[in-house]
Amino acid sequence: MANKGQIGVTTENIFPVIKQFLYSDHEIFLRELVANAVDATQKLKALAASGDLKEEIGDLKVTIGLDTKENTLTIADEGIGMTEEEVDKYINQIAFSSAGEFLEKYKDQIGNIIGHFGLGFYSAFMVSKKVTIETLSWKEGAKAVKWTCDGSPEYTMEPCEKASRGTVITLYLDDDSKEYAEKSRIEGLLQKYCKFMPVPIIFGKEQEWKDGKYVDTDKDKVINSVEPLWTKAPSELKDEDYKSFYRTLFPMNEEPLFWIHLNVDYPFNLTGILYFPKLKDRVAVERNKISLYCNQMFVTDHVDNIVPDFMTLLHGVIDSPDIPLNVSRSYLQSDASVKKISTYITKKVADRLESIFKEQRAQLEEKWDNLKLFIEYGMLSDEKFCERALKFALLKNVDGKYFSFDEYKTAVESAQTDKDKKLVYLYATKAEDQYSYIQAAKDKGYDVLLMDCELDAHYVNLLEQKLTDIRFARVDSDAVENLIPKEDRIKPEMKEDERYDLENLFKAVLPAGNDYYVVGENLGASSAPILITQNEFMRRYREMSALGGGMNFYGSMPESYNITVNMENPLVSKIWEAKLADVAPQAELPAEAPSDASEEEKTKAREAREAVRKAHRADVESFAAGNEILHQIVDLALLGNGMLKGKALADFIARSQKVVQDAYLK
Ligand code: ADP
Repeated sequence: MANKGQIGVTTENIFPVIKQFLYSDHEIFLRELVANAVDATQKLKALAASGDLKEEIGDLKVTIGLDTKENTLTIADEGIGMTEEEVDKYINQIAFSSAGEFLEKYKDQIGNIIGHFGLGFYSAFMVSKKVTIETLSWKEGAKAVKWTCDGSPEYTMEPCEKASRGTVITLYLDDDSKEYAEKSRIEGLLQKYCKFMPVPIIFGKEQEWKDGKYVDTDKDKVINSVEPLWTKAPSELKDEDYKSFYRTLFPMNEEPLFWIHLNVDYPFNLTGILYFPKLKDRVAVERNKISLYCNQMFVTDHVDNIVPDFMTLLHGVIDSPDIPLNVSRSYLQSDASVKKISTYITKKVADRLESIFKEQRAQLEEKWDNLKLFIEYGMLSDEKFCERALKFALLKNVDGKYFSFDEYKTAVESAQTDKDKKLVYLYATKAEDQYSYIQAAKDKGYDVLLMDCELDAHYVNLLEQKLTDIRFARVDSDAVENLIPKEDRIKPEMKEDERYDLENLFKAVLPAGNDYYVVGENLGASSAPILITQNEFMRRYREMSALGGGMNFYGSMPESYNITVNMENPLVSKIWEAKLADVAPQAELPAEAPSDASEEEKTKAREAREAVRKAHRADVESFAAGNEILHQIVDLALLGNGMLKGKALADFIARSQKVVQDAYLK
């Protein structure tokens, strides 16, 4: 006779509430039910192993059945089953009362709860109008029992015919959950959640091509791999095993650079495999490629609250029963065991990279360009990782040679220490564009690093903080003599108005729209007449503000350049002499207005002085305009910096032809 009862829930009808709250995550019912079936199977195996169960258990499996006509879904296992008392205890009492507790506890924050609860058996009601359990316990003399519930707090329990040990859960799908009566939907869910569960999950039959179509064979189709790679001992595995596992996880991806097999059982339990993918630039970076499992059951592929941000660039699998699943995201970040796990993973990644540095240096160098973004991002965002990485990170010079930080220091120390005993590391960001500067530095016996990664503007700043007594200078930020100042050099003697004339002379022929800071220097007769450079710090701020997105103060200023005029260069001296000969000195400035003069008089006097200056400047400018060689040397410097474009470039070419012709045919 059927046994009726009331489920121990206070809420009148809890299921509509569950459905509404957890709407977006309905699909996890399948994971929960399969997980229960797997648990029951594992428990039976444990009983057999301990000798409590005498009979031969054979190969146990979990079978998913779908009846698309009746809209039913069944999950059948061959596990321990339940006696009538157990159904009463685990399903009627505990499961349902904990649902009540659960909602009671989270009713205020239900909106921001992470989607992955240990919802358990009753998540079946998210998609069903009726659920039955038919079960036969492994215990001797147990009788099969059938439990039925239609989503109201009432259930019935009655004896039933079930010959084999285990449990069959049947879901009578709701009208608005018909999608779960589709084979492809169920197959997709099983692939997502059950791909690595430890007991074979069967769904349908393997198919074969016969008489022009696919037909079922009589071989069961197994969805999962019961022993995924991360559960095996690293010592038993070869490189190829890791690579082929990566291919099964990410069939479309390029081969990974390196991997780490995580395996710890104290103070928490965690296994997994993390792969370092090839990273070229941030835009192409794929995040959320680490899947979190709990005892081989898929939980989520959003691990951003569990590992430090830069680790989300890695790909792979983490399996830990110790990560709390039924809590909100913000709680997760502050959870002590999650913090420990995060620290552990960071440490393991650093350990692995350090051992690659020590034992596989050639491989590290070969793969560095694709690994660098990850390491630099890690160093910039994680203090602890940065400390570790200073031991294994590499620097690459423009000739493609790699150095550790220690090695580099030793290599350049003697040549590149400046007069204040600071070591100067020169770097280029674009080897092609900065070729002539690189060459000039090399001619001096200096080494030039290549810093062409998009994070390098920040990275250079970070390294200046971390490496003591080291300064970075971009190779084109100054004349090579000034990049690493060796002794105080004698500056050319110039009076105030001479400096002013020099400035106006060059500004007259430089492209408009930028700021120029013109200085005369003695750089030797054989050095170039002019150098165009950009101040190291201004440029770095600019680059960093561009990286940070949006325009700030530095980003919105005009470009500014230093124009270093080599007064010892013969062309410059000749132009300068010609200027002295052709341009009359500036006329005497009219006197300034006395301090007790009226505002009007003061303005008048100021304007009179300005007019004299302006007239003189016009003279200098007209001299400049007519001096072909001045144009020519400025254009050559601009050309060397890739700054000569459009009409200016065409003018330069035409003028060059004329200058060459004049010189040759004279
Ligand atoms: P949880 O799995 O978190 O304990 P559930 O609500 O999913 O919560 O299940 C409650 C209990 O019901 C389980 O602990 C287990 O004892 C029992 N149970 C559920 N499904 C099965 C099954 N397929 N076979 C045997 N026992 C089961």
